[in-house]
Formats: sequence, structure tokens, C-alpha cells
Amino acid sequence: MSIRLRLTLWYTALLSLALAAFAVLVYVVVAQQLTSQLEYAVHLQALEASRTVDTDLLARPVAQTHRLQLPAAVAFADRRLYIQMVAANGDVLAKSGDLGQPLPTPQSSLRAALGGEESHVTLNLPGERVDLYSTPLLLNDKVVGVLQVAASLRPLEDNLGRLRLILLAVVLGTAGFAAALGWFLAAKAMRPVDRLTRSAQAIGRSADLAQRLAEPNQNDELGRLAATFNEMLGRVDRVVATQRRFLADAAHELRTPVTSIRTNVEALLRTTRPDPRERDDTLRAVARESERMTRLVNDLLTLARADAGQVLARRRVALDTVLLEAYQMEKALADGVRLDLGELEQVEVEGDQDRLKQLILNLVDNALRYTPSGGSVTLDLVHRAGWAELRVRDTGPGIPAEHLPRIFERFYRFDQPGARHTGGTGLGLAICRWIAEAHGGQIEVASQEGLGSAFTVLLPTAGPSGGDSSTVPAPRLD
Ligand code: ADP
Repeated sequence: MSIRLRLTLWYTALLSLALAAFAVLVYVVVAQQLTSQLEYAVHLQALEASRTVDTDLLARPVAQTHRLQLPAAVAFADRRLYIQMVAANGDVLAKSGDLGQPLPTPQSSLRAALGGEESHVTLNLPGERVDLYSTPLLLNDKVVGVLQVAASLRPLEDNLGRLRLILLAVVLGTAGFAAALGWFLAAKAMRPVDRLTRSAQAIGRSADLAQRLAEPNQNDELGRLAATFNEMLGRVDRVVATQRRFLADAAHELRTPVTSIRTNVEALLRTTRPDPRERDDTLRAVARESERMTRLVNDLLTLARADAGQVLARRRVALDTVLLEAYQMEKALADGVRLDLGELEQVEVEGDQDRLKQLILNLVDNALRYTPSGGSVTLDLVHRAGWAELRVRDTGPGIPAEHLPRIFERFYRFDQPGARHTGGTGLGLAICRWIAEAHGGQIEVASQEGLGSAFTVLLPTAGPSGGDSSTVPAPRLD
């Protein structure tokens, strides 16, 4: 069922309910009002009649019914009133002229009147219903008979019947009108939604994520919906663009080693009797490129897993031990560059030991690769107010200011003059940043051209009960 129809139905149903309740209330109040007016008129009439009635009649036993003259009650002239006088034994002694047959006298009313009480009963006479009022007639303070006044209920019932019809017509008419109005208003309210839906469908069909929805009015719900949708489109657009670039860069980076391997292998195949030294060189180049390709594929896999939201293991890790292991591994590779340990404090963090080691190895590997022979690389690890601060400093060429903000981007690399066999993938620092951030930490670089670079990683330390203390704000990196 469409929202438009649902809105209209709800609106009409609620309005009809309210109208019906109101109509019932009006009917009940008017009916009560008319009934009490009638009863009041009957009372007055009875009062008037009792004044004129000759109560002596009652004292004398009379066999014949007397004619009772209806008093000139002008105020009630329009009502059909009947009056009769009944003796204590139930005999009708006198009755008004317009009364053909005497009124039937219910025993209960007679008993009540003889007991000195007034009563009202509704009588069903042939052709009409009447309200019968019975009141005692007193002679020297003794009940000697009963005066009965009956008023026809027909005018009242006719009036109430008319009122019922009018109220029903008003309720039905208003409900019908409300339904039509509701249907029209709902259509008007839903029109912008339809427009938004059509625009969103068009964007979906064209698959052009650069398109945006027209934002009708920033302050209303639909404006906010369109703005939110546009924001989401913007984010999706950026993510898709990043993924596309990543894929293109990955393909591009893979093409270089693949082409090199193919060229070398084809050259080898073409040479029927190759020079052993030349052949060894070619095979070494193939091995080097294969190794680079393996590294690239591993790095791509790491980042792809990171993008897929890979959850890292969270165990207590002695970061100083991991740093020492990395130091030992890299020491063997530090060809012509001094690799030193500076400050080394015992610090435990919560996290994935292998990833943390990869982070340190990447940083040390870079420092060793970009620092020319004779330079030095120093590793520090200190504990600072709930944070482990790990630093890799080198005396390398430094990073020019224009590159600094971008070196943590994927595939962002630039040639360092005089760098030794880099063979890098441009993904190393992007992976470092992901590992640091996935541990609730951060990574920063400070560098001065010609003097060297310092990469600093801040990681929240493991708390005493195993939780981390990442609620402490990270110290400023300098
Ligand atoms: P790569 O695989 O090229 O090393 P990275 O993401 O690790 O990729 O580094 C990006 C770029 O940052 C490198 O191309 C290099 O120019 C520069 N760089 C990284 N580490 C250092 C360093 N310690 N000293 C100087 N330049 C560096």
C-alpha cells in the first residue's frame, strides 16, 4: 500500500472517529436537554392542573368519569398533553378532553404516587409513546388520589430523528471531504519524494557517481534526506575513485616486473649458446624482479585485507622485544649504514605482534635503503604517559617539504637521489600508517632535507588489566 494511500486512510479514519465521537456527544447532550425540557413542561403542567383540580371530587365516590378542563398553559400549548385523575383504588375519576381512552396506569407509578412520591414512566400507547408523570393529590395533607400528566414523545422523537440524520450527514460529508483533501495533500507532500526517487533512479541507472540530487530546501526533512544522500554519493564516489586508482596503480606497478621478467626470459630463450656470465646476470635480474613482484603482491594483499576490515589479533605484546628482533634482522642487511639502538624502555602494547614487527621492519628498511653508506639509523622506544613512542631516525637525504604530506599515500613514491637499490613498492608507509591506526595509534614524520628523517609511531600501552590506555590523549609529536 502506498504511503499516500496510508496517509489518507489514517487521516480520514482519525478524523471520522473524532467527528463521530463529537456527533454522539452532541446527540446525547441535545437528547438529555430535550427530555429534561419535556419533563419540566410536564411538571409545570401537573402543578398548574393540581391547583385547578377539585380534590373534593376524590372524596366523593363517583361512578362516572368527569371531564377535566386542561389549564391554559400557553407555554406548552404545542405539546400534546393528557391529564387524568386517578382515585386511590385505581379508578380514573377525571381526564382531559383530548384523551379518548383513559391512560393505562402502571401499578408501580400508582403505588409510588400513593406513597407520596412522584414518578416518570414511558408508556407505549398505540400509535405513540408518552412520558407519564404521576404525582400524589393531597387533601388535608392526605393522599387521596393521583394526578397523571402524559406528554407525547413524538415531537421529541421527531426532533431527535432529524438531529440524527443531520449529524450522520455532517460526519459522512466531512469524512468524504477530508478523504479527498487528504488524498490531494498527501500527493502534494509526496511529490518531492517522487522527484527524489526518480533522480536517484536516474543516477543509479547512469552509474555516474559525479551526479547529485537537487536539494529542494535544506531545512526540511526532504532537503536533509537529499543532502545526506548527496554526501553518501560523494563518499562512495571518492571510495570508488580511490579503488580505481589503486587498481590502476597496482596493475601499473605489476607490469614493470612482469615485463622485465618476460624480456629477460625471452632474451635467454633466443640465445642458443648464452655466455654463462650474461645468463647468470639475466637470471639474477629475473630473481630480483620476481622478488619485487612478490613483495608488491604481499603488500597489495595486506592493504586489500585492511580495506576489507580485517580484525587484528589483540594480545599483550612486549614492543621492546619485537623491536630487538627487528633490529637483529635488519642489522644483517645494514650494508655500509650503522644501525644503532638508542633509548630502549620496556613497553607493552595490545595488538598483533606480526603486524607490529612488519611496521618496524618497513620503517627500518626504508631508513637503511635511503641512507647513503656511512650514514646511521637509530631506533628508540620510550614509554610516555600511557603511550609507547617508537622512533626510527636516519641521517639520510631527508624528504622535501612538498612530498612530506603525501608519503603515507598508497603508491606515492619519489626518487631519492643517490638512494641504493630501492626496489620499493610505494606501499610500505601506507601499510605502516594502517598498522599504527589499527592499533589506535598514529604515525608522523619529521624531516629536514640533507639532514635526515625521523619517523615516530605512537601506540597506546597495554593497561595493567590488559586493556589499553588509549583514553589518555596522545602526546604531541615533535
Ligand atoms: P617505497 O617502497 O618507495 O619505499 P614507501 O611508502 O615506503 O615506498 O615510501 C614512500 C616514499 O617516501 C619513498 O619513495 C621515498 O622517496 C620516501 N621515503 C620513505 N622513507 C624515507 C626515508 N627514511 N628517507 C627518505 N625518504 C624516504
